[in-house]
Formats: sequence, C-alpha cells, structure tokens
Amino acid sequence: MPQFDMILVDPEQAKGVEVEDHTAGTPLREGGGDETYRCGSCKTKLLVNVAHHDAHGAVIKCGKCGKINTEPHHH
Ligand SMILES: [Zn+2]
Repeated sequence: MPQFDMILVDPEQAKGVEVEDHTAGTPLREGGGDETYRCGSCKTKLLVNVAHHDAHGAVIKCGKCGKINTEPHHH
C-alpha cells in the first residue's frame, strides 16, 4: 500500500489551475485503489486508497495547513 507525500506548490503557480479544497478531518477522495497521498507540509492524508489516475494531475488545497499540493510524479 504505497504512500506518497505530495509536492507543495506556490499559490502563484496555482493561478489558473483548478484547485480542489480538502476539508480537515476527511480525505478529499477515498477508495478505488491502494495509493495514499499526504500533504507535503503537515502530512494530513488528502487522498486515501485511491487509484493512481485519481491522483494524477490533482491540485489540492490542504484543509489543515492551507498549503497547495500537487501530485508527485512517480510512474
Ligand atoms: Zn497540510
């Protein structure tokens, strides 16, 4: 069950990109695969047991620390 820390992105870099809002306490998405993705700053689990394609290209604002995360490429 692989677990990855996501890459932090600058809010400037996230301009014009669709950012999904994570709510603290609940994963943004859960189920469908075996990969877990954590906030690159505070290690909150943002995506839990998802398939790789669910995380691919995701840009997520952490509900706990407010940092913007993107998927680490690990093909
Ligand atoms: Zn965080």
